[in-house]
Amino acid sequence: MSTLTAPSTIANHPPTAELQARDAAHHMHPFTANADLAAKGARIIVRADGVRLTDSDGAEMIDAMAGLWCVNIGYGRNELAEAAARQMRELPYYNTFFQTSHVPAIALAEKLAALAPGDLNHVFFASGGSEANDTNIRLVRHYWARKGKPEKRVIISRRLGYHGSSMGSASLGGMAAMHAQGGMPIPDIVHIDPPYWYLEGGDMTPEDFGIARARQLEAKIAELGADRVGAFIAEPVQGAGGVIIPPESYWPEIKRICAEHDILLIADEVITGFGRLGHWFGSEAYGIQPHIMTIAKGLSSGYAPIGGSIVCDEVAEVIGGDEFNHGYTYSGHPVAAAVALENLRILEEERIIDRVRTDTAPYLAQAWATLADHPLVGEAVSRGMMASMALTPDKGARARFASEPGTVGQICRDRCFANNLVMRHVADRMIIAPPLVITPADIDAVISRARKALDEAHAIVTERGLMQAAA
Ligand SMILES: *Cc1c(COP(=O)(O)O)cnc(C)c1O
Repeated sequence: MSTLTAPSTIANHPPTAELQARDAAHHMHPFTANADLAAKGARIIVRADGVRLTDSDGAEMIDAMAGLWCVNIGYGRNELAEAAARQMRELPYYNTFFQTSHVPAIALAEKLAALAPGDLNHVFFASGGSEANDTNIRLVRHYWARKGKPEKRVIISRRLGYHGSSMGSASLGGMAAMHAQGGMPIPDIVHIDPPYWYLEGGDMTPEDFGIARARQLEAKIAELGADRVGAFIAEPVQGAGGVIIPPESYWPEIKRICAEHDILLIADEVITGFGRLGHWFGSEAYGIQPHIMTIAKGLSSGYAPIGGSIVCDEVAEVIGGDEFNHGYTYSGHPVAAAVALENLRILEEERIIDRVRTDTAPYLAQAWATLADHPLVGEAVSRGMMASMALTPDKGARARFASEPGTVGQICRDRCFANNLVMRHVADRMIIAPPLVITPADIDAVISRARKALDEAHAIVTERGLMQAAA
């Protein structure tokens, strides 16, 4: 096998077809039908700057997904490369087991404690969101065991929630297609329905529906007994489920129910943390004070793999009373921590989150909403720098397509790609979560490319006879 030397410019990498063949021969892609991809060939990204990606054929795309919801400060920030190089030279690795620590982990934990709301003052590090949520399962169960209530083991989560891809975190998640492979969910994790008004709200008003869906949590606690339920976990806005923005009534009711029944609240802030909703954390946008927060993605803007759990004083104190038999080789990895610190410095000093809240998120909201007049679009909504639109064959009825869910979504996604716009589809819902540094001019470009893609998708869908509502 020939070896690939790292290309420094798009002019000196092997041709796309060769890269695709080598990729297909040896690389198993996540969440991908690899045989299918091998036939088609992967799109190979060679570099990025700001909000733009360049592929191996030289095409330039706007990345309206910020990678996988993570490149909050945008691509190409040299300061992060410098921070990584500096840390690698000084101390590339040391662990935080066995009574040792190091400067980057200390400084990052302290910074996160200062940024996180209320008494979320303690950080357990992981390499990403999945690991952090596995930590959370064990934290919650160990916490209640140490409080003399080992039977408070059940964690309630939501259908269409996404909490990661390990056995524990995917069990917390509510993705049927993931549970169908590998024997999930693990025991003592149960799911309730999401506050997905557009597809599931029927004749109810969004506000009444938000209350009704929150009260499913109370009903589930009653069914199981509060003495068996340890925690409820949820994303402030559901991301991978389709950017499902809850009605305003939802979170206050969840907050009341958790408090009344002595249930820990875990906010999975992996997407909503670090500015995506115009606040440091989505919990602040919704006025909630969780006991534990999951963080990853925007923590380092994706420049290095790092995540963690931010834990409140009381839970940390109870857990700290004896040895917590848990940890990862890379918990608090010094290079990742140094990169995260530099990322947080940039977010703070350049007032990027303030700008999202006061300027760019309102700009995106009004621009995105204009797409709702398109004949293929049933709703176009956003919160902060997360936006979604429902594709529908019948706007008035909030109808689903008769075709297999995702058929029309994928057609639209492919037309977006063809128009140099990275947008994602979840079933027949289109979603974006651009870098937080996107400018109004680039938001305009996203909207005009999206509109063109919608026109093309509409023509294809009509021609194939797919503008049919499900019975
Ligand atoms: C991406 C994601 C995770 C999983 O994070 P990984 O770093 O992929 O393990 C967990 N929760 C949410 C809300 C996510 O979006």
